[in-house]
Amino acid sequence: MNNLKQEHIVIIGNGISGVTLARHIRKLSDKRITLISSESDYFFSRTALMYVYMGHMKWNHLKPYEDKFWKKNRLDLRQTHVKHVDTQKKQLEFESGEEFAYDKLVIACGSKYNKFGWPGQDAEGVIGLVSKQDLERLERFAPNNSVCKRAVIIGGGLIGVELAEMLSTRNIPVTFLVREKHFWNNVLPDEEAKLLERHIREHDIDLRLDVNLEEIISDDHGKAKAIKIKETGEIIDCDLVGLTPGVSPNIEFLKSSAIDLGLGVLVNRMLETSEPDVYAIGDCAEQRVPIGNRPTVEAVWYTGRMMGETLAQTLCGNPMAYNPGHWFNSAKFFDIEYQTYGWVFNTPLVGHSEFYWEHKDGRKCIHIHFEDQSRIFKGINTFGIRMRHEVFDRWLTQKAKVGEVIKNLKLANFDPEFFEGYEDEIIEAFNKQDVNLDLTVPKALGTVRSKSIKK
Ligand SMILES: Cc1cc2nc3c(=O)[nH]c(=O)nc-3n(C[C@H](O)[C@H](O)[C@H](O)COP(=O)(O)OP(=O)(O)OC[C@H]3O[C@@H](n4cnc5c(N)ncnc54)[C@H](O)[C@@H]3O)c2cc1C
Repeated sequence: MNNLKQEHIVIIGNGISGVTLARHIRKLSDKRITLISSESDYFFSRTALMYVYMGHMKWNHLKPYEDKFWKKNRLDLRQTHVKHVDTQKKQLEFESGEEFAYDKLVIACGSKYNKFGWPGQDAEGVIGLVSKQDLERLERFAPNNSVCKRAVIIGGGLIGVELAEMLSTRNIPVTFLVREKHFWNNVLPDEEAKLLERHIREHDIDLRLDVNLEEIISDDHGKAKAIKIKETGEIIDCDLVGLTPGVSPNIEFLKSSAIDLGLGVLVNRMLETSEPDVYAIGDCAEQRVPIGNRPTVEAVWYTGRMMGETLAQTLCGNPMAYNPGHWFNSAKFFDIEYQTYGWVFNTPLVGHSEFYWEHKDGRKCIHIHFEDQSRIFKGINTFGIRMRHEVFDRWLTQKAKVGEVIKNLKLANFDPEFFEGYEDEIIEAFNKQDVNLDLTVPKALGTVRSKSIKK
């Protein structure tokens, strides 16, 4: 086979979206494929970075494919940084000055962690938790609690909790500053946010809510030594500052190009950018037109994979629009698993109602949103109870009524035997909420009333 005659697909980024795209193009064609990354030679599982620091895995365990996989599948890898994209000449410029031509370019350059212009944010010992290099810096500044006597984490969300858990496995005291009144309640309803607050504090994390970082204070060598809280003026000594106030598309290097940018690389449903033969996928892509309630930038693993699979079809002659289906997500907060299917906003939308149940141990809950009039189920958050994705996906597609969902929750449960204890309790709680008696459930479970909450 003569590669020179093949169309050359160049992919910037060897994360889940770029690599999924490359693998699927290879399944479908003989095109020449080059993957470029300034971060690492080989693809690794970013979501498992924490387990390396925690000692559960070695770096090599994060690589889903053996090193020989790439050559065997004729996927060329380049470890270099792309400095500029020239869409007129259809070529890239690398940091070294080398120019590199493409026929089709796919931007899959992921996210960077946010910094909001805080004084001292670029000091030594201030890290994020996104890249392999961040993990190396963490190991350097927080190898143990003699070197790192206290760490301060700024910004409560999924990555902040991971960092807190990581540090606590090495017995490093952690102060966690969160801007919101309750933990992650820019996303979660108050009930779940409070449940998580208790859980985080149970792990001896010094969680401070409703506070902002004023500045990071450095020593004479430019190394972070303390932080100052804006509201109280309190100064907290520390040896590491973790910045985890969210991520945003890593698109700085594209600002000199002709490609339309917003928060990320602007794309349509075909994942095409404003420039011919240039596409964007994964964390860095921003939908010009929102898809339902989904965020226009989706920084989650499975959507990167879906975009990669979808674009491979298009690039191999089978045009396909990105169609992510129903929203879902999952994460773990120390010992508590979280899943969400459909939409549960931090406050219900107008015309929607909610049902919340929490187990008396304070570590398990479900929160459901549904439409008032039609009683159609809109979404669920679960903490501490693992559910089945395919069941909720089906209920959302079928526009199931909330009563049916409550009645059949057991079908969705991953550990039905384990779940049995809660089922009656959930139905009883749902019954107590109100009014429209609209469902009959199997005898053993009595009758379910579903309710519309008075606002
Ligand atoms: C700590 C952590 C935990 C997470 N946990 C979860 C989770 O539990 N569930 C979930 O759904 N998601 C999780 N995520 C998010 C998920 O990992 C990302 O959505 C996903 O990895 C994004 O994949 P991507 O292919 O778009 O980009 P990335 O994986 O970020 O890959 C982009 C690559 O492009 C490279 N690059 C960027 N610019 C250039 C350039 N100019 N030149 C060369 N190379 C460049 C980058 O260095 C990087 O290697 C987590 C993320 C982090 C950081």
